[in-house]
Amino acid sequence: EGPACECNTCYGGPDCSQFFPDCAVNADGGDPLFLEPFWMQQAASSALLVAGWHRMSYSYGDQSTISQELERHIRKLHDIVGNAATEGRYVVFGAGSTQLLNAAVYALSPDNSSSPARVVASIPFYPVYELQTDIFNSVDFQFQGDTSLWKNKSDSDTEVIEFVTSPNNPDGQLNKAVLHGPNVKAIHDHAYYWPHFTAIPAPADSDVMVFTLSKLTGHAGSRFGWAIIKDKVIYQRMVTYIALNTMGVSRDTQLRALKLIKVVLATGGRGIFEFGHETMRKRWEKMNKLISTSKRFSLQKVIPEYCNYFQKIRGASPAYAWLKCEKQEDKHCFAVLQAVANITGRQGSLFYAEDRYVRLSLIRSQDDFDLLLHKVNELVVGEEGPQ
Ligand code: PMP
Repeated sequence: EGPACECNTCYGGPDCSQFFPDCAVNADGGDPLFLEPFWMQQAASSALLVAGWHRMSYSYGDQSTISQELERHIRKLHDIVGNAATEGRYVVFGAGSTQLLNAAVYALSPDNSSSPARVVASIPFYPVYELQTDIFNSVDFQFQGDTSLWKNKSDSDTEVIEFVTSPNNPDGQLNKAVLHGPNVKAIHDHAYYWPHFTAIPAPADSDVMVFTLSKLTGHAGSRFGWAIIKDKVIYQRMVTYIALNTMGVSRDTQLRALKLIKVVLATGGRGIFEFGHETMRKRWEKMNKLISTSKRFSLQKVIPEYCNYFQKIRGASPAYAWLKCEKQEDKHCFAVLQAVANITGRQGSLFYAEDRYVRLSLIRSQDDFDLLLHKVNELVVGEEGPQ
């Protein structure tokens, strides 16, 4: 008898071949394990060994060659992908983009104003914008809800900070800033602006742009992100925030990020982006094909666009399926999916949308995706029968 193998939740038996049809499927969370097979192929070239006495100093300041090297590689990466303008701009590192999101809110907020900056985002939006802004409970900035509420307001004393997520989490749309004017500042969250998830129609070139290693290489646990900033004062305010919040970004993490980005650059990005895009495109195609046969459920539309990186129109490949329950009685789509198919997604209300919507993650491991597809298939086929 061999050792018991570690099976996915839906499989059992000595060789994990026995399928449990009632098992639970996890389609929650944004862990990008779809890239794990790519890194398995690059096991040696992406490996890192650091001697105990190496890089012991604090990582603040810009003295270190590793930080400069990393910044240089990040600029090169944006140049070859064509997804962001970096020339003449500043780069600041963060512990994931999460830290930088609030650093940017802080940096863009007024210092001694009698009224706080109003922070807004367009529904459906990534919940952390509100949760993080709220937890600091600052007199300088406050979360105010949906962007559209501020569209026709011309309150000249109030500063507004708009989060623009492009592509958007949860629905994958290439959002643009909605608000404009002298008192409006935008934070462009480009976590998903990589060829895995979207066509790259043009380099992003707004004043404050945030990127993350998490969705580029999949190393969400390393906690590394960066912001590209046009204005020197804003940049300096962000650097101050990072210095006071965490005294800079882990040198070990910077070293790992550099190693991984070097592997990405070695093929001009072709290796990882072709793998990433192909994987995500196939997943979307399969999911879309299934749901298009359904009367009960529908998916968001993602229009294929010309991609400057691949130099052709590439099929849609969003990170998440933004599923809608179409039937009047299925008001709580999350509960419907749990009850009928034991699928756990993320409910629409968490994104400040209706609970008629559920977000299903398409970026998890292949096993998780295959099981999700299997369950969705049963769900859709089952529509015809008695319910
Ligand atoms: N922005 C968006 C839109 C996200 O979806 C995520 C992660 N799910 C983040 C930022 C944060 O990512 P990280 O802190 O790992 O960089």
